[in-house]
Amino acid sequence: RIYLDHHSTTPCDRRVAEVMQRMLVDEFGNASSQHLFGQAAAAAVVESTDEMAAALEVLPSELLFTSGATESNTLALYGVCRHPRQRRRKIVTAATEHPAVLDPLARLAQEGFEVVHVPPYPHSHPLVGQVDMEALLEAIDDQTALVSLMWANNEIGTLQPLQQVAERCHQVGALLHCDATQAIGRVPVSLAKVDVDLLSGSAHKFYGPKGVGMLYVRQTGRRVRLRPMIEGGGQQQGLRSGTLNVPGIVAMGRALSIAMAQLDSDTDRIGGLRDRLWNKLATGVDGLQRNGPAFEAGRLAGNLNVLFPGVEGEALMAAVPSVACSSGSACNSVNPEPSHVLLAIGRSEAEARSSLRFGIGRFNTEQEIDTAAERLIAAYRHLRTMLA
Ligand code: PMP
Repeated sequence: RIYLDHHSTTPCDRRVAEVMQRMLVDEFGNASSQHLFGQAAAAAVVESTDEMAAALEVLPSELLFTSGATESNTLALYGVCRHPRQRRRKIVTAATEHPAVLDPLARLAQEGFEVVHVPPYPHSHPLVGQVDMEALLEAIDDQTALVSLMWANNEIGTLQPLQQVAERCHQVGALLHCDATQAIGRVPVSLAKVDVDLLSGSAHKFYGPKGVGMLYVRQTGRRVRLRPMIEGGGQQQGLRSGTLNVPGIVAMGRALSIAMAQLDSDTDRIGGLRDRLWNKLATGVDGLQRNGPAFEAGRLAGNLNVLFPGVEGEALMAAVPSVACSSGSACNSVNPEPSHVLLAIGRSEAEARSSLRFGIGRFNTEQEIDTAAERLIAAYRHLRTMLA
């Protein structure tokens, strides 16, 4: 088996799993308890929070811990828009966002918000996948409560120019939320340089465990009013009640530290493997096309999305079960619809259905890339001859 689906999830790094096990078994206290067991757990959470805050260049008190990016996005979007003192009724987002942003926004639209989906530049444009900046800047006005724009796209790897958007938001008093789930640990995410107000992340995308994530909520300067969704014990400043997931939080901190320490070397190596996979596939498959931006321009190093002409992505995947990749919007593969991201950049339904996404990660090897490419090319040729 060869795992090339790191946008969907990553394996937990062994170093992270070791720390997590210690917290599960030895330092199992409830971080809200007064006794020594509770104090030890609380101290571990403080240490990990400090570590993550330093990595993202934010204050420790600006980080909330959640069950993952779906919850973080939902809390950010509902929390800002449903706050009793929210007067503005417009939300601006991009057509290429993840369903964990689009679906809560569809709910808010039912509740009476005007939600504007700004299209990306099409695949013929050098900035393919980036949000059409002119249209976005025009859509953001003094009635806009919130803008939600992802840092890096989970299907085609496009990085968005967030700072420019942040400046526009702040001119008109709108808040900026960023789904940074695919970016944290893969590209430098520093909130000292990029002025967002809320930011979501999830540990299982950077070699941490599933079921734990974070939401950054700005506390300095502009005021972010958030209505909580989960109420109970009043933990986390009353914004997200419930016993802290101490093993998950500590593991996430360790995973982020490792990712930051290895960021440059991982990026170089993973980018090299991605180029290798593309070159091998392009040599073996006539007319292979890339979906998304050029590799050297504003794109996640591990992301490769390719269009195999004349063959369904699903059929190719089924023919090579030993190579893990994904067709369409993988995080969403219960849903057989063609990818909304590929359609948004101007691919036809047939082209979108012929596309596969590969996500290369920390533990992949050249040997794996070569084997995967050989198997895919052989299966592709076989399917083409059967269809001919
Ligand atoms: N946003 C993006 C961009 C994602 O890629 C994902 C995971 N597929 C999510 C949100 C949801 O994350 P989680 O699994 O932590 O809920």
